[in-house]
Amino acid sequence: MAQMPDNGAPDEPHEREGSSTAPDADTPGSMERTGPPPVGDVPRATRIMAIANQKGGVGKTTTAVNLGACLAERGLKTLVIDLDPQANASTGLGIDVRAVDATIYDVLLHGVDLASVVVPSDSDPNLFTAPANLDLAGAEIELVPAFSRELKLRQALEPVRADYDYILVDCPPSLGLLTVNALAAATEVLVPIQCEYYALEGLGQLVHNVDLVQKNLNPALSLSTIVLVMYDARTKLADQVAQEVRSHFGDAVCRTIIPRSVRLSEAPSFGQSIIGFDPRSRGAIAYRELAKEVSHGAT
Ligand code: ATP
Ligand code: MG
Repeated sequence: MAQMPDNGAPDEPHEREGSSTAPDADTPGSMERTGPPPVGDVPRATRIMAIANQKGGVGKTTTAVNLGACLAERGLKTLVIDLDPQANASTGLGIDVRAVDATIYDVLLHGVDLASVVVPSDSDPNLFTAPANLDLAGAEIELVPAFSRELKLRQALEPVRADYDYILVDCPPSLGLLTVNALAAATEVLVPIQCEYYALEGLGQLVHNVDLVQKNLNPALSLSTIVLVMYDARTKLADQVAQEVRSHFGDAVCRTIIPRSVRLSEAPSFGQSIIGFDPRSRGAIAYRELAKEVSHGAT
């Protein structure tokens, strides 16, 4: 049975009530947890999750940013790697990508140390970002002649992976070399699926690519986590999609469902995660629940 954060009520009227477009930085509860993480939440080995779906606009970046912020809030040291030239995860986490000296592009193409491009978050001492910028758009082509081109990210992560509990990799909307690098470096794949018509279209191809990478490059890889996002309780279709996804992917589907919420789409323009922007919103509650569920599954 799906767990909706607040009984699945349509969110818009409730959410707009009393909420301006300004960030809600001073709201009590914006940092709910400052101590060590709950016992059992810390994975024995770093969990590296590639957040992938070749479809555009399905909530990959929103999930990378907000799951990352919520894991960090739980006391888990978390790195979000932006592997998309659109750099939405970087800006969504408050980074001015025009001002950074080096990005993940320099790591993948010029052998720059990953540690040297990592930017700590202003809002949480456990949260870190490896930013991207538009340079990365050239990487798909520039990587083609490179030696072990599929393993660039994996090699770059080797010296730093043990420094983190979670590493979330925000993939671009394609199955090209950048996504292959993420899959080759990851221990798990997290797929956000929009609760809409055609949601499952193209997933077969993604699953096939995960299988190929698992067989040829990364035997440890598993498609462990499916997250249903942009759920709208007002449509029957959303429930049908959720049911269909569950019948395909079974236990990999998280119980927590992320509702469609205006506040979630507003937060990035303030360079804040949803828990900094509006900590009591339905989106914040849902992503906190998701972080709890994901980290409870830690082994
Ligand atoms: P791309 O494939 O272009 O990288 P994406 O899969 O990363 O896209 P997002 O950027 O996370 O998708 O989301 C697409 C749009 O939908 C954004 O404007 C985002 O703010 C909005 N959005 C994401 N999740 C939600 C949600 N649960 N409720 C409302 N809007 C959302
Ligand atoms: Mg994105």
